[in-house]
Amino acid sequence: MHFDVIIIGAGSMGMAAGYFLAKSGKSTLLLDAHTPPHQRGSHHGETRMIRHAYAEGEQYVPFVRRAQSLWYELERESGKEIFLKTGVLSVGKETGQFIQETIKSAEKYDLPLLTLSRKEVHNRFPGMHVPNESVGCFESESGVLKCEDSITAYKALAKHYGATLLTGSRVTGVSLNNHVAQVHTVDETYAAHSVIISAGAWSGPLLDTIGLKLPLTPLRKTFAWFHADEQTYGKDAFPAFAYESSNGLYYGFPSIEGAGLKVGRHDGGTPIHPDEQMAPFGTLAEDEEDLRTFVHRHMPKVNDLAYGKTCLYTMTPDDRFIIDRHPQYKNLYVAAGFSGHGFKFSSAVGQALSQLVCLGETEIDISAFSLDRFQRK
Ligand SMILES: Cc1cc2nc3c(=O)[nH]c(=O)nc-3n(C[C@H](O)[C@H](O)[C@H](O)COP(=O)(O)OP(=O)(O)OC[C@H]3O[C@@H](n4cnc5c(N)ncnc54)[C@H](O)[C@@H]3O)c2cc1C
Repeated sequence: MHFDVIIIGAGSMGMAAGYFLAKSGKSTLLLDAHTPPHQRGSHHGETRMIRHAYAEGEQYVPFVRRAQSLWYELERESGKEIFLKTGVLSVGKETGQFIQETIKSAEKYDLPLLTLSRKEVHNRFPGMHVPNESVGCFESESGVLKCEDSITAYKALAKHYGATLLTGSRVTGVSLNNHVAQVHTVDETYAAHSVIISAGAWSGPLLDTIGLKLPLTPLRKTFAWFHADEQTYGKDAFPAFAYESSNGLYYGFPSIEGAGLKVGRHDGGTPIHPDEQMAPFGTLAEDEEDLRTFVHRHMPKVNDLAYGKTCLYTMTPDDRFIIDRHPQYKNLYVAAGFSGHGFKFSSAVGQALSQLVCLGETEIDISAFSLDRFQRK
């Protein structure tokens, strides 16, 4: 069984790549250990935020703009609703780095970002309390991506364009030379000219097997839904938000279809091996305590916790992604280490990977995401 390209891991990044490659006419095999979308990796929980102004670095702005236009394209082609334009509110100390960098990136790229005083935030969103000396930056064009739905949409289209998806197919190893790659599962071996490794939290152990050691750290993360009044916290009234409080960086989503207000914490988390059984939400006392304290302090109209879940981040030391070609094997590509903020980019990551495989280069600037920054002494 010989393919043009095999994608190992058909989650957020892999499924998008599968779509673009199959659409480009490449014979494409997607292998996944589970059946995406699923609850075992990094892409479940119904929603992901997409912000355009980007405190993490201006270099992300053109990338996220490309991703946004590809999300609209996915909606047109699939006929499914993927993006909800709820707006995004970033809250933090007016003079702090998070707010200052958000504003700087918006100014540089002329993004429609509105800076709101504490009082203006409260008038516009009565469900949100902002402390003294903090402000809100509101982006009306940003919002929420339906994460599982977008993977389902890419999956259907990838298959429509001829991709083969094998689920329950855990890859155990890859044998490589520059012309052909063999990909091994427990039962089978598949061959292809090119291989993409996009195995999320499992990318580190898999890359280890071909001698590429990367500083990737999977983390157990928690998030939860709280019962909330729809008039105040429903998606037509309340935005998605990133909130830098004195405790840490929290994020959240308005209640969508009565699900409740969803809240998580971006910083922190517990290192874990991805094969380890993850302790369910609520196992640690701080799972609920931390989110409840944040919510009751800053969103006082929110009620009790409904339920919570766990999910995996895969961190790099600088929180930047890895999207690159292997230095030695020119037919091996890596998309990993999305450090808890990769989903919004996954449409553009898929397109970049497809261009790398088809053309040997991509028009999308991925220079900030090179492998060699971790291989220099
Ligand atoms: C709680 C939480 C909230 C987040 N919020 C946001 C947000 O608001 N905005 C944002 O942009 N990002 C957010 N992120 C980050 C984003 O979801 C991730 O960066 C992104 O999903 C990572 O995609 P991935 O393709 O690397 O991993 P995944 O989507 O997990 O895909 C990896 C796939 O590889 C498969 N796999 C693994 N090992 C093997 C193997 N050996 N063989 C075959 N298949 C294998 C897995 O089954 C899985 O399907 C959040 C993440 C979490 C956990």
